[in-house]
Amino acid sequence: MNKQYDIIIIGGGMVGLTLACALGQQQFNIALVEAYAPEDIKHNDDYELRVSAISKSSQQILQSVNAWQGMLNRRACAYQSMHVWDATGDGNIHFDAAELGLDSLGHIIENKVIQFSLLEQCLRLPNVDWLCPQQIKEIHFSDTLQEVVLSDGDVINARLLVGADGANSKVREAAGIEINQSPYEQKAVVAVVKSTLHHKNTAWQRFLPTGPLAFLPLGDGSCSIVWSAENQRADKLIEMDEALFISELQSAFENTLGKVEKVSQRAAFPLVRRHANEYVTPGLALVGDAAHTIHPLAGQGVNLGLLDAAALAEVVIKAKSQGKNIASLTTLRKYERWRRADNSLMMYSMSGFKNLFSNDQAELSLIRNAGLNLINNMGPVKNKFMRHALGLEGDLPEMAKSIGW
Ligand SMILES: Cc1cc2nc3c(=O)[nH]c(=O)nc-3n(C[C@H](O)[C@H](O)[C@H](O)COP(=O)(O)OP(=O)(O)OC[C@H]3O[C@@H](n4cnc5c(N)ncnc54)[C@H](O)[C@@H]3O)c2cc1C
Repeated sequence: MNKQYDIIIIGGGMVGLTLACALGQQQFNIALVEAYAPEDIKHNDDYELRVSAISKSSQQILQSVNAWQGMLNRRACAYQSMHVWDATGDGNIHFDAAELGLDSLGHIIENKVIQFSLLEQCLRLPNVDWLCPQQIKEIHFSDTLQEVVLSDGDVINARLLVGADGANSKVREAAGIEINQSPYEQKAVVAVVKSTLHHKNTAWQRFLPTGPLAFLPLGDGSCSIVWSAENQRADKLIEMDEALFISELQSAFENTLGKVEKVSQRAAFPLVRRHANEYVTPGLALVGDAAHTIHPLAGQGVNLGLLDAAALAEVVIKAKSQGKNIASLTTLRKYERWRRADNSLMMYSMSGFKNLFSNDQAELSLIRNAGLNLINNMGPVKNKFMRHALGLEGDLPEMAKSIGW
């Protein structure tokens, strides 16, 4: 096969699929290349280990590509509060949806549910070709046409190639784009746990000097935990037997939700901050984890990626409507300028938080705890911070703007 498209997207994860839906709805001919076919989830399946805290702006984007209802029909857990506290003192901060006039602060959704609900929508679009399972064998860049040779020998080409192929992006590598990276020296240990007390539809996070521990609410009353810990400690948390893990977990979480009765298998993910030196070159754009990865402590990675997808779609759609070249550097730079500043701000904030809390020096702990309590009692400052984190304000793409929550 040798076929020409308007746009080729490599990577059918949450971000690539969202972009394909957004552009496919606007009559672009799209090839979406994905290595692994996602499987649907059944109601009585065990909860997946990988979940995402989906912000309000991401909900809006997923609604505008008609995939949100599919997620609610499968399983998604809305949370109305967030409680954050410091293990080295009495500092704490509590966020409540009602204080912001919202029905929820966001939803915890399994990545597989997000991916499959998006795929369902993509498959409904006649102008999107889902090429899966397929990988890239070769990429040939030129001024006018990007050519991709797929693993089965098929050749596809398009004016614009998008790398949505995750943290170790082959597209980024093939384009010779360097990344600035530094390991956080932590791994995130994830598991699903059932405690004796209900999570009260609250996202809980306790900052320990060795890293943050989050309990994220799931629909059946259990929680998905994300326990970021220094590498050696994380390795031990993975290796230790279940009884010891439960005992360590209860103590790290101060038994906040009572006793842990059940724990699933555990997995660990090394945490690395990465930022591509360029998001675009002529005929090429990077989105999502292919462009940036950050610490999961504020659950922002995929939310930033979905904003990338919405911004790139908006820039490309506008260029087409004005009769401009959708793949020129002038067009693509608009996307890069728009998203790089926002992503950088979030990255530096996450590194700052991580360093601030990974320190048990008495003076710093005093200041940190006093600061948390102060912000907690300053309604307008707290609400401003929260509105930004939820994606309710900032320079948002049209797809991400609220039509009323
Ligand atoms: C422990 C942990 C917890 C997290 N929690 C949150 C959270 O609560 N909220 C949040 O917003 N973010 C969270 N994140 C971050 C989030 O998971 C990522 O930002 C998100 O998965 C990135 O999506 P993506 O589509 O860009 O990349 P990916 O999810 O990596 O998808 C890339 C896709 O490309 C495919 N692919 C790769 N190479 C090729 C190739 N050569 N050919 C074809 N296909 C290819 C892959 O199979 C995959 O499907 C968390 C991350 C971690 C590690």
